[in-house]
Amino acid sequence: MPFTVRISDPRLKFSASHFLYQHDKCSRLHGHNYSVNVELTGKLDEHFFVVDFYEIKSSLNDIISGLDHAVLLPAKSEFIHIQEIKTPVDQADEIEVHFNGKRYVFPKIDVRLLPIPATTAELLAEYIFKLLKKQFFNYKLQVEVAESEGSIAIYNE
Ligand SMILES: [Zn+2]
Repeated sequence: MPFTVRISDPRLKFSASHFLYQHDKCSRLHGHNYSVNVELTGKLDEHFFVVDFYEIKSSLNDIISGLDHAVLLPAKSEFIHIQEIKTPVDQADEIEVHFNGKRYVFPKIDVRLLPIPATTAELLAEYIFKLLKKQFFNYKLQVEVAESEGSIAIYNE
């Protein structure tokens, strides 16, 4: 399969906040403007395309718009304790987070609980890879997540 297409569109970005319990400075709540690039390798179809650019961009956009302007929390962390707080009917439900002796409370609607043990760029790349792979299972995929310009994590198979 010698053909690869690369999706590197400056519009494929999301802004989100997170923290990393295992890191001194990054254990404080902060944000990034993430950008995502994807490569697909596969056979040419009857139209001589590896993949329809519109189709892959649209899927990727659906995934990253779910992460945009949200607080990303690692639901699989052993070290960050996350629990839902039920609130009175007229208040939004909340998510309470404890780690390293600190406590945060977020409105549940602002939070994305991700099935990963830490919200590093590496594991965000793997998370996006797994979601894309469900739809693009006939391709070899590579997902790159940059948390700032020049700091890029790559997940491939
Ligand atoms: Zn960070």
